[in-house]
Amino acid sequence: MDIAVIGSNMVDLITYTNTMPKAGETLEAPDFALGCGGKGANQAVAAAKLGAKVMMVSKVGEDIFAENTVKNLQQYGVDARHVTVAPGTSSGVAPIFVDDQSQNRILIIKGANAKLSAADIDAAAEQLKACSLIVLQLEIPLPTVYYAIDFARQHGIKVILNPAPAVAGLDIDYACQCEFFMPNETELEILTGLPTSTDEEVLRAGQMLLGRGLKNLIITLGNRGSVWMQGDTVHRIDPTVVQAVDTSGAGDAFIGCFAHYWVQHGDIAKAMQSASAYAACSVTQRGTQRSYPDAETFQRFLT
Ligand code: ATP
Repeated sequence: MDIAVIGSNMVDLITYTNTMPKAGETLEAPDFALGCGGKGANQAVAAAKLGAKVMMVSKVGEDIFAENTVKNLQQYGVDARHVTVAPGTSSGVAPIFVDDQSQNRILIIKGANAKLSAADIDAAAEQLKACSLIVLQLEIPLPTVYYAIDFARQHGIKVILNPAPAVAGLDIDYACQCEFFMPNETELEILTGLPTSTDEEVLRAGQMLLGRGLKNLIITLGNRGSVWMQGDTVHRIDPTVVQAVDTSGAGDAFIGCFAHYWVQHGDIAKAMQSASAYAACSVTQRGTQRSYPDAETFQRFLT
């Protein structure tokens, strides 16, 4: 295995409606779609689609969604042996309502993701030890994230920590043990309490975090590109200009792709260039995982 993602999976339940129902009202909606998501699963799928050997440690519920989630990961080549059922729980689900103005209303029910524990990491320990990179996000309990970081340190495995969704109480000392800390601009703002609307503000907030001992800070800035900060060095990656159709899951595409290329050749700036192009390619299609190009499609996009 190259990469282990210890993280979440979610089922997106997307209802397309002309108008949102008021309290007590029942309306007919024209369309519905079911999608596989969750930051952990998205990042695992992006790396696997590019050809990385990826395993996932994750929890599904005791319900009809579980089998579909495992099948979906396997279909993309992700090793799902350590995606296990949390008895008596629902899977993580996200009921999403999209109206005719493309406005979203989203509820997140963490479900089984809230049950992923240190015991699940121990159960996968032998396979995890063979990985060169562990990728973490914050849709699972924080103590499990911290346990994974300790586990990685003990076994000399590098870590990418994507602090999403942002948790104000995140212990930055754990982030400092990770090779890469990768927030987007909103997460950076929540973590530092500083504004991040302009490039200058982003760099100031980034410097504040780096001052606490982070090794590599990579900030994604949507259609403004991304920035890599290490010590006093700032490396700016301009965005790949595309006609964006749907930007959901762009951050996960970026991280999954970065993980793959960094494990391949260890060059941070080059891995960011690829990740930037890969995420840009993904925003030209609707959806999250299904919008991520495989290696062949990505090569065509680049040429
Ligand atoms: P999400 O939460 O939807 O997964 P995010 O907010 O974490 O996304 P962004 O910072 O929006 O992540 O995007 C990640 C990367 O994707 C950016 O750094 C950029 O390289 C690329 N990207 C995003 N939007 C665009 C766009 N409109 N055009 C080109 N590239 C884009």
